[in-house]
Amino acid sequence: MDKGDCFSCGRKIQKTLTSTCIYCGEPLPESQLFSEEEIKQIQKEKNARDMARAKHNDSNRADFSPYSSPESPCDFDLSW
Ligand SMILES: [Zn+2]
Repeated sequence: MDKGDCFSCGRKIQKTLTSTCIYCGEPLPESQLFSEEEIKQIQKEKNARDMARAKHNDSNRADFSPYSSPESPCDFDLSW
């Protein structure tokens, strides 16, 4: 998933869900955009990181909203 460097600012293009450079905000050319498949993969990795972080914060659960319950279903948006 290496898309090379941004044509505008020359920095390495990061795995991103947006179609613009995260450094300079220039729209990326089509050849440097991530495909739908790649974006799904990026989203998956992001969700995995979020879940790892959530686990790590488990001891702080008491500070969360009283309406949230450990039994509540996973609410990650996986529809895309
Ligand atoms: Zn740039």
